[in-house]
Amino acid sequence: MAAPGPLSLNTVTVKEKWGLRECIEGCARHGIPAISPWRDVLQAMGVAEAVRAIRDAGLAVSGLCRGGMFPAMDAAGRAAAIEDNRRAIEEAHAIGAACLVMVCGGLPPGSKDLDGARGMVRDGLHAIMGDARAAGMTIALEPLHPMTCADRSVLSTLGQALDLCDELGEGSGVAVDVYHVWWDPALRSQMARAGRRIAAFHACDWKVPTVDTVFDRGLPGEGCIDIPGIRAMAEEAGYRGHVEVEILSRRWWAEDPDRVLEEIVRRHAASC
Ligand code: ZN
Repeated sequence: MAAPGPLSLNTVTVKEKWGLRECIEGCARHGIPAISPWRDVLQAMGVAEAVRAIRDAGLAVSGLCRGGMFPAMDAAGRAAAIEDNRRAIEEAHAIGAACLVMVCGGLPPGSKDLDGARGMVRDGLHAIMGDARAAGMTIALEPLHPMTCADRSVLSTLGQALDLCDELGEGSGVAVDVYHVWWDPALRSQMARAGRRIAAFHACDWKVPTVDTVFDRGLPGEGCIDIPGIRAMAEEAGYRGHVEVEILSRRWWAEDPDRVLEEIVRRHAASC
């Protein structure tokens, strides 16, 4: 099997102890060639300052996390979400991100209207595609495991994401996060269908048993996901981008971030 694609650090991995500046310096220290910031740490540092620091460290930016969260109970809420996504496109463009990752949003609070929420996601995406194309920014739809359907993403499978991409056309793609798609019986065929539309590849692991469905992700190799197998599918589809390690884990957040990065570099070589 080919060597894993170049490593990228998703900043959520060390979010309890490091801001963006420490993440940028940490990447440089540990020889990690790319970074993927979340918007909160980007805004805390300031976009202009972040652009300078990322450039000075010579890092690529594999993505900006995240846009999306379109569904809302009323029209004002949905319009505000669209406006916020437009700002996210500007930020992603400013930092030279390869894509803007979309976590599309769950049901509005109290709602049971799943079809309605999916419609709001579709409408929201259509509303921002013109801005994305004008900025040359790829909108990467990230399907999330269906256990998050209520509160994070009504977009649950790669097939569903690609149906939307078919509709949205140029400038749209998918972010494949192994944690969210590994279980899908249609994964192989949908990865092939995605082809060049794979805009990001997120790596982490599913621990057995998992004690928290959101905040107990494992480092690559700690769980049951065949990460090299899924990466090979991405490569066969034409993906040549980064392997972005993205760990939401209370356990790893408690560790010394330098130790976490060391582990990531080691495991990336062995388990991605
Ligand atoms: Zn992800």
